[in-house]
Amino acid sequence: MQRGYKRDNNSRPNACNNCGQVGHYAAQCPQGSQDVDFHRLYGQHAFVMRQAVFQSDLDAAKQAKEINFYQLEKKAKEYAEVS
Ligand SMILES: [Zn+2]
Repeated sequence: MQRGYKRDNNSRPNACNNCGQVGHYAAQCPQGSQDVDFHRLYGQHAFVMRQAVFQSDLDAAKQAKEINFYQLEKKAKEYAEVS
């Protein structure tokens, strides 16, 4: 009975899952791991941690831009001159 992923037909039952040689397991394989190299596949940029972006921060930034502080100051000065 064969379970798990398929091996080469010429590999022996107790052979290494990595290189197919007998005498060691894949974890101790001298050939090194042949796992998928995700860094090579997706590029180093895929593994850079990015700062989380929250919608509330975006809304706050948007709101801050909508407030025209020059206009506010002008209005405040006008108010101060009138009174
Ligand atoms: Zn091996």
